[in-house]
Amino acid sequence: MKRCELQNPSARNAVAAVWRHLRAHFPADARFLAAIVKRIVPVAEADAEGGDCGQWLDDAFLSLAEQIAWYERFGDEHGRGYGTMKLLDSDALSTLVVAHEMGHAFTSDEDLDDRGGPDEWNSEAAADMHAVRWGLLTLEDIRHRFLRNLGEQEDETCGAAWTHHGPVPGGDWFEDAGVRWRLGEDFVFERGDS
Ligand SMILES: [Zn+2]
Repeated sequence: MKRCELQNPSARNAVAAVWRHLRAHFPADARFLAAIVKRIVPVAEADAEGGDCGQWLDDAFLSLAEQIAWYERFGDEHGRGYGTMKLLDSDALSTLVVAHEMGHAFTSDEDLDDRGGPDEWNSEAAADMHAVRWGLLTLEDIRHRFLRNLGEQEDETCGAAWTHHGPVPGGDWFEDAGVRWRLGEDFVFERGDS
């Protein structure tokens, strides 16, 4: 079975470039990702938010035997599991997006807890943190993505503090459910007095 089911040559190249980089520079992480990323399939254009957005979907274990095999193989990989990655199957897919989705796949429960912010932003910050750690994404890339997303955002109510990818590391304070937050450049949320 082929893992990558994308057809567009440029999109396939972006995926291959990320695998190559990870295998060359982070072989242990690449081996883990190769074991858990079962399929890479096209995301519906409508869900792709201008090409910036993929999805990582955890696959439920199909049987108790599969679950036991998982714990025997990856016992301490808390909160991670097999999954399917959905990516835009077009020229718009960049290595930055592939790296971010690989970051989602790699994120453990500890990674989420260590971010220390509101739930919905911890996973975005953790995904970016891994992509930056791998050298596949820079803080500058994240700022550009934020500004691009902001321009595309139809809902003005959440203001300029974040987009669907969450707040920018080293960016402004923002308020969520009455609490002030800021994401540090180390991908840890600071909580303000309010
Ligand atoms: Zn994300």
